[in-house]
Amino acid sequence: MKIAIEEAFATENLVKAWKVLIEDGSPGEAGLEHHLGRLINATGGWGAKVAERLVDLGDARLAEMDAHGIDMQVIAITAPGVQVFDADTGSALATEANDILADAVNAHPTRYAGLAAVAPQAPKTAAREIERAVGLGLKGVMINSHTKGEYLDSSAFRPILETIEAAGVPLYLHPRWTPPAMIAPFSERHLEGSLWGFQTEAALHALRMIVSGVFDKFPKLQVVLGHLGEGLPFWLDRIDRTYARGRSATSAYPHWTSERKPSEIFLENFWMSSSGHNWDLAVRFTLEVAGEDRLMFAVDYPYEDTKQQVDQAAEMNLDNPDKFYSGNAKRVFKLN
Ligand code: CA
Repeated sequence: MKIAIEEAFATENLVKAWKVLIEDGSPGEAGLEHHLGRLINATGGWGAKVAERLVDLGDARLAEMDAHGIDMQVIAITAPGVQVFDADTGSALATEANDILADAVNAHPTRYAGLAAVAPQAPKTAAREIERAVGLGLKGVMINSHTKGEYLDSSAFRPILETIEAAGVPLYLHPRWTPPAMIAPFSERHLEGSLWGFQTEAALHALRMIVSGVFDKFPKLQVVLGHLGEGLPFWLDRIDRTYARGRSATSAYPHWTSERKPSEIFLENFWMSSSGHNWDLAVRFTLEVAGEDRLMFAVDYPYEDTKQQVDQAAEMNLDNPDKFYSGNAKRVFKLN
């Protein structure tokens, strides 16, 4: 069985709302027009194809899955989700997206599982929406990294993490482009997106949570990162040593409050997908670092080419392909 766990969708109303925001000059959202506008306003080519596929939860998506042997997609709202809007607009769009996704899952229960969208800019509303969405049968929560330059280690978002932990579902922390405070050096060379900005920003987000003690407060919280952990497995040894040195000079590093080593938290509270990154060498390295129980297959539909990702993954010589392709996903998302 093959489950792909970082597969994206958007609602028609979300796309409309993004277009309005772009027309209004994308206040406070540098990167929206440059990155998303060229996709949703494309009149042809790759962008138009992606935009068309994002809003489909029916025959075309299923046909693509069938053509390449994907039994199930775990589907979530695409970046930047509703996190670019004011709190009320974002909350309403998230609720609608969850209803639409839950309907699609109910229509195709053996083919789709879904993750809930939330508007972190309204933390208490988001917490209630998580409870409602999990009640509808959604299997986790998708947050597309920073919300207007704010990160989940901020105490303002505590109700969200509390609710996710209590619900026993994972948080999928997905990249989006770098926030206004750090976008200029990236966007000057168009590096704010998936070439480099995405993993830089998402790894930053995960590390902020790790060093600041989020997992001391929420020890059962489970976080899924895409793209082989956004590069973090590659750096864990150096991160641990630097962290230990900083902790021994406590006055100099007051924000490093976590008692556990970063690598301990990473290996106990994080899961990873191979979304758009089914590269044998990198996958084998990630498995060496994290073991075979926490890495899961993903395509990153519709951004990546399903055939290319499936074929590339098939070339990997995995000791335990069942865990990678389905077993780990069943465990973390509690799929039946
Ligand atoms: Ca993705």
